[in-house]
Amino acid sequence: MKNIVLLGASGSIGTQTIDVVLHHSEKFRIIGLSVGHNIPKLKEILSQVNTVRYVSVADAQHLSELEELYPDITFYSGDEGLVKLAKLTDYDIFVDAVVGFRGLLPCLEAINNGKDIALANKESLVAGGPLVKEALKRNKVRLYPIDSEHSAILQCLQGNDKKEVDKLIVTASGGSFRDKSREELKDVTVEQALKHPNWSMGAKITIDSASMMNKGLEIIEAHHLYGLPLERIGVLVHPQSLVHSLVEFEDGSLMAQAGTPDMRMPIAYCLAWPLCLDAGVPPLDLARSGALTFEEPDLHSFPCLELACRTIGKGSALPVALNAANEVAVEAFLSGRIGFMDIPDIIGRALDECSAPDPASLEAIETLDHETRLRVGLWIEKV
Ligand code: MG
Repeated sequence: MKNIVLLGASGSIGTQTIDVVLHHSEKFRIIGLSVGHNIPKLKEILSQVNTVRYVSVADAQHLSELEELYPDITFYSGDEGLVKLAKLTDYDIFVDAVVGFRGLLPCLEAINNGKDIALANKESLVAGGPLVKEALKRNKVRLYPIDSEHSAILQCLQGNDKKEVDKLIVTASGGSFRDKSREELKDVTVEQALKHPNWSMGAKITIDSASMMNKGLEIIEAHHLYGLPLERIGVLVHPQSLVHSLVEFEDGSLMAQAGTPDMRMPIAYCLAWPLCLDAGVPPLDLARSGALTFEEPDLHSFPCLELACRTIGKGSALPVALNAANEVAVEAFLSGRIGFMDIPDIIGRALDECSAPDPASLEAIETLDHETRLRVGLWIEKV
């Protein structure tokens, strides 16, 4: 029996993690979880999952009501609550599925607490990659990527440790606007951007997917997870989202991992590693799936991809600025304050103006993140 702490339980990855756990309740048990502001969803989760003993919510004002309703559960709140969950002792694996930079601190706390990590929060690896890797090594714990692309790469590498890897090839769906030109992208709406053709995900990652920043963040993630330089990590647009990524070996052969686009598969892989579990996902029927196509990404229409790649191998400050500027810009786009193509403009400017030294501690990363957010917020007011 593996005990699990799950951050971001009400989100897309969170609810699918709960689904996998309930599918295998003889193997997994959620003992702690966090949600943001969605208290009705929390109550629904607690009616399904009866093993939860610790819960953290975003806002302390809900605590007294919840404590009265669930006297057997210990409640926490705020970012401090996420840290308290990370510091619990009686669990085995920490699933970090909160959105954004706020996932970094609890991730580090869980690693320093000696717990294995199943990471869906890519922003923490983007902004704190070197720090996270150093903590993993020092505490001798493992990090399993929930992201479908990195899970695919991990699966392709299994059993191939004697072969020399030439290249990682990350596939991209191309998001909601795959066929649009740069000119057409200037006038797209939030509603259009939120319609992802293949994956059902939260708003932030769906916008990142539409701008292809998601792929940029994933290249940074792959660079940290698998230790390859930028020139040995490629991207292929694969609109069907059935091949989740590939590894090219020195003899020129490619290993690919394919499957139905359903996040329960990579989630189950993380939880059960190195075993393979039925995640409740129907197998992919290649005879019925139609043609699989692959093409080069259009960097002119989707400059976010190039902006993310620009930060790799140039120290640890630029990725922090990239991530902070992107989070603020995506929020501004979602609330209608800026246009879609303002997102890459704002991020490009944040990178150009970032002259901070490489942050060597979590505090320094948090300071740079905060300063970038303030600066970008001022630019947005003037858009
Ligand atoms: Mg992904």
